[in-house]
Amino acid sequence: MPEQTAYTSAPQSMDELALVREILRLKEEMNAVILAHYYQDSIIQDIADIRGDSYELSRRAREVDADVIVFAGVHFMAETAKILNPGKTVLLPDLNAGCSLAESAPAHLFRRFRAMHPDHLAVTYINCTAEVKALSDIICTSSSAEAILEKIPADIPILFSPDKNLGAYVRNKTGRQMLLWQGVCTVHEQFSEQRIQELRETWPDAEMIAHPECEGAVLRSADFIGSTSAMLRYVEESPTRRFIVATEAGILHQMRKRAPGKEFHAAPPNNGCACNVCDYMKVNTLEKLYLCMRDRGPEIIVPEDLRLRALRPIERMLEMTQGDKEAVHRVLGEIALPYHDSVEGSI
Ligand code: SF4
Repeated sequence: MPEQTAYTSAPQSMDELALVREILRLKEEMNAVILAHYYQDSIIQDIADIRGDSYELSRRAREVDADVIVFAGVHFMAETAKILNPGKTVLLPDLNAGCSLAESAPAHLFRRFRAMHPDHLAVTYINCTAEVKALSDIICTSSSAEAILEKIPADIPILFSPDKNLGAYVRNKTGRQMLLWQGVCTVHEQFSEQRIQELRETWPDAEMIAHPECEGAVLRSADFIGSTSAMLRYVEESPTRRFIVATEAGILHQMRKRAPGKEFHAAPPNNGCACNVCDYMKVNTLEKLYLCMRDRGPEIIVPEDLRLRALRPIERMLEMTQGDKEAVHRVLGEIALPYHDSVEGSI
């Protein structure tokens, strides 16, 4: 059953109110659960049954027992939900909700990258297509990357794709030998060190917290680095009252809800705007959420052979982060190196 929703974003118009009512009615009628990423508009986050970052949403999507998953996030996230829970109808409000990281790694180039380094184990960030997942050994998220790398024997070289900033961050943290795919998140790489420094001078008592998809220079000046969920926990638990937040601005809504009385400022990008938003995430609107439920589409479809090949690397992530030593041993034991492309020509 969906958990109870705390609905705290007041609709701003009669139209919005009507949409919210219809979405809630349709949710009951079609036995649906709405999952929303923290980068969605605040009203969509509040109407959702489950909110989270990519890791939490993957974990929770697998457990959904309703008939329909309505995924307010980007395409690779909804696709991951379908891979993990294939018996459910998975709807995405707008198929154009892409991701610069997923787009940076087309499957045919990633496949060539693997073929060039067959002795490397491929740990791939979840921000990628199902095809790239299927060509990877283990999927990771920003919450789980470091823990997964630490469980892989130190003498095994790693291919890390597609985010070079997250890759460089975990390479520094773990000291591992890693080759990095050169993709970037176009949102996180835009933060302006100079404008962040100006904010720090305005509020010298503030802590600057950053997502590891940010560039190294921004990360080096951060007081705390963590995934979206880790940042949320940090602001709740820290005695600090004021924060400069270097990630997508949608997270500020959750921070204000979870740590009322504290002050949050979006770290500014280098394009003159006050905060940094992901245009891909924001193509989903309340109206499109309603329409996709009314029309039961767009629906995410993943061919079964591809789904099965993409599934195991995602399951390995969940097993390596949630399982015991035996589970980790089992996961590592089933990965055969040197890598052999067993699906030649099918991607
Ligand atoms: S914020 Fe970056 S990584 Fe996340 S969906 Fe947008 S482009 Fe992709």
